[in-house]
Amino acid sequence: MILDIRTLALICNLVLFGSFITMFAFWRTYRDRLGTGYWVLSLLNALIGFLLIIFLDVIPDLMSIIMANFALTMSFLFLYMGIREFLKLKRRFMEFLFILISVSAGLVYFTYIRPSVSSRIIIMSAMYITVSMACILKQKRRMIGPRRNAGIVLNILFMIHTIFMTARLVVTLLSPGIRTLDDFMVSGNFQALVFIITIFFYSGLTFTFIWINYSSLENQRLTLMSAIEHAPTSIFITESKGQIEYVNPAFTKKTGFTSREVVGRHIRFLKNKETDPAVFNSMWDTIITGLPWRGEFQNRKKNGELYWDMASIAPVMDKRGRITHFVSVNEDITESKRLQEHLKTLANHDSLTGLPSRRLMLDRLSSAIELAERNKQLVGILFADIDHFKKVNDELGHDAGDEILKIAADLLRDSLRKADTVARLGGDEFLIVLPQVSDREGSSIVAQGMIDAFASSNEIGNIGLSIGIALYPEHGLTANELIKQADNAMYEVKRKGRNTWTFAGSSNLNNEG
Ligand code: GH3
Ligand code: MG
Repeated sequence: MILDIRTLALICNLVLFGSFITMFAFWRTYRDRLGTGYWVLSLLNALIGFLLIIFLDVIPDLMSIIMANFALTMSFLFLYMGIREFLKLKRRFMEFLFILISVSAGLVYFTYIRPSVSSRIIIMSAMYITVSMACILKQKRRMIGPRRNAGIVLNILFMIHTIFMTARLVVTLLSPGIRTLDDFMVSGNFQALVFIITIFFYSGLTFTFIWINYSSLENQRLTLMSAIEHAPTSIFITESKGQIEYVNPAFTKKTGFTSREVVGRHIRFLKNKETDPAVFNSMWDTIITGLPWRGEFQNRKKNGELYWDMASIAPVMDKRGRITHFVSVNEDITESKRLQEHLKTLANHDSLTGLPSRRLMLDRLSSAIELAERNKQLVGILFADIDHFKKVNDELGHDAGDEILKIAADLLRDSLRKADTVARLGGDEFLIVLPQVSDREGSSIVAQGMIDAFASSNEIGNIGLSIGIALYPEHGLTANELIKQADNAMYEVKRKGRNTWTFAGSSNLNNEG
């Protein structure tokens, strides 16, 4: 005999121990990897089995023979379970139990009832062959994608093992010489080979399993990477302080910055200076506590152009719950923002003249009243209506009437200061809000200025304007009340002759009421 069986068994144990530790560590890191748990159990059982074999003649038969072979059978069955799990096949506990019980029964029978070492070797070899063949067949049908090469190596390992076990079975059948354990321990080079093959088989398996798992991890990584690279929305990843680590092509395309130009910079460089710092702070406050945040940002492209992003930012945490990165998925909402603004303008402005609408005017009037109340100031409300506008329409046509309305709007706007508002209420009616008028005279001067502007305009011909004036707080305290008072005053002007102004509650035209 070239090598001493006990030495070989010891080496075998060391290799199995090393493999077990490696696989266990792998399983701890990648718990979600299918099958790894079973492979850890398989190596643990092989380790126990071969440890018991070392003590073959020191411990009772039950422990050494029955338990050792039981552990080795379990080891092989766990291997098979691991492969089924990895290939996403159904679990087969009945098969597992059937083989385990039959092997155990055979071992007990040929140890206690009709002791026969060769029969035990035959039973074990048959078990190895059956399970290995099952592993090969299952694997062969499912060798796909990046784990194909690893799968081939795995099958070669199983095949070598099967061939060897078949040879062992045949040799044992043909040589009835092995009767006692002593025979087994000194049965020559062939038994030494059992251990050498085992060392080769289990170490090879460990390497291949880790390789298979890495191939499928790599495959998963490539799929995820490709999804991010081809995503139509811009995605960037920063480390925990906000320094950019990765940007996807959609980001480079949208912002005009190349990946090289942005990686390593702090994300705030994209921020538009006018962005409300409160938004930025609320975002940071949320994400550093580990919660996702969603909100709008106005950012700047490389060419200076501004754009709006709806950003969904999520923290990425390590196993201990510490934030390592942030991922931001950003949807460009510039267009919908623009549309929103446009709709708002449409809702708040008159389409013909571009003047604020009644709604916007009511808003401004209410704020003006609030402010005036606090500062004990006056607000002037002027209700203006063009005189005999129907006639203009009748004589010149509706389109010319429209043109005149536009010019009238410009004339009114030009007679005002910046803080004042002129709104078109509809038809030929306008309402003017003077938020900082000094006194009654101040508002009548504005009214007279408008009438004069109409009178002296060449563009609109000889058109008059009737204006009713109401003052806060003198003629009312609410917007509606004041408008009503100004409206009544305007009707008073119409009734008494047109083309002038009067104050609410006054019976005289063009005077201080
Ligand atoms: P009054 O001096 O009493 O105000 O006489 P008026 O003819 O101006 O009568 P009123 O103010 O009651 O009617 C306003 C007219 O303005 C009614 C309608 O023919 C015309 N009008 C209303 N809206 C428009 C518009 O958008 N475009 C044009 N061209 N005309 C309009
Ligand atoms: Mg009119």
